[in-house]
Amino acid sequence: MTTNEIFALDRENIMQTYGRLEIAPVSGKNATMCDSEGKTYIDFTSGIGVNCLGWCDEGWISAVTAQLGKIQHFSNYFFCESAGKLAEKLVAASGLRRVFFGNSGAEANEGAIKLARKYSYDKYGEGRATIITLQSSFHGRTVTTLAATGQDVFHQYFYPFTEGFKYVPANDIDAMREAMTADVCAVFAEPIQGEGGVNMLDTDYVKVLRALCDERDVLLVFDEVQTGIGRTGKLFGFEAFGVKPDILTLAKGLGGGLPIGAFIGGEKVENTLSAGMHGSTFGANPVVCAGALEIIERVNTPEFLAEVEKKGQYIVDRVMAASPSKVMAVRRRGLMIGFAIEGNPKDVLHTCADNGLLVLTAGKDVIRLLPPLTISYEEIDKGAAILAAALA
Ligand SMILES: *Cc1c(COP(=O)(O)O)cnc(C)c1O
Repeated sequence: MTTNEIFALDRENIMQTYGRLEIAPVSGKNATMCDSEGKTYIDFTSGIGVNCLGWCDEGWISAVTAQLGKIQHFSNYFFCESAGKLAEKLVAASGLRRVFFGNSGAEANEGAIKLARKYSYDKYGEGRATIITLQSSFHGRTVTTLAATGQDVFHQYFYPFTEGFKYVPANDIDAMREAMTADVCAVFAEPIQGEGGVNMLDTDYVKVLRALCDERDVLLVFDEVQTGIGRTGKLFGFEAFGVKPDILTLAKGLGGGLPIGAFIGGEKVENTLSAGMHGSTFGANPVVCAGALEIIERVNTPEFLAEVEKKGQYIVDRVMAASPSKVMAVRRRGLMIGFAIEGNPKDVLHTCADNGLLVLTAGKDVIRLLPPLTISYEEIDKGAAILAAALA
């Protein structure tokens, strides 16, 4: 097919819910992608933080195809070795207790909402189901996770939304304390807000929040759909704060390119959901879990994670060495990078794409980078030069 035929097929047959770039990717290796026109791009996006070992990593392909050649799917009425092994790794690494596997970030958060509300119901009965989330957060696209998302633009059209959510500004502990009324069962937060603009939570704030939650038996839930699995230079973003959540949600990078989501419960909630209370047809798929197991084994080493931090700093250094005039502020942890800029970030994104670099935007004024964790220094050099020019 010609590239224009590919575009036309989409425009005629697929619901037009995305503002797509006029690019049709066809192949890739690590952080270099080739499109249907034979043009190559440096990839500072990994999908959206999904392809954490880059495009077509050989170890990941082997893990996936080895499992694919044995059995592709069976229902959750049977036991799955790769899901068990993956869960064991996630439990050991997080310090939490038990995992549930689904297929996406929104689904992971939906499950975490159910888990938190059930915990509270068991202990305190009805009327304690309110969940506090942060302004500028993003938790997903289902009706309930849209309600959880702390941005008014997402609260349109699809009424009635699930009730029981309220929103407070991030890093404002007084507002949080005031919002934590007797009807609250949980607080949801991203350790670094991704879609909202690469906004960091302060360590002091999170420590006090943890103490507040403990005091009132309110569950602290970290949505690490974007920050999890090495993205921030730690396996989990929450490690930067020195506090543990009661529930952790994961997706994006966990599958390395195949769909997976997970929520992990700590001590308080490990046995809150029992047979028949939650489920997923596709969840804990053996092929997806075999790939995710390879990812966690590769990413969760001190050497690998130290490189993520080093490469993140290197990208910022390379871009800022050119003193790009549009950059107002840089926010970064590991390979999760935000350049707050003057002007429209979409314009910068298009300029970069024209010149062979893929970047993301976030919030109103941020260029967001989520490169593959395996990106090479040579690929960084090429990409950073294009980005610096676009930001000049
Ligand atoms: C992407 C994202 C989600 C939604 O994940 P989907 O897989 O698209 O459902 C939820 N929370 C955060 C923090 C995300 O970045």
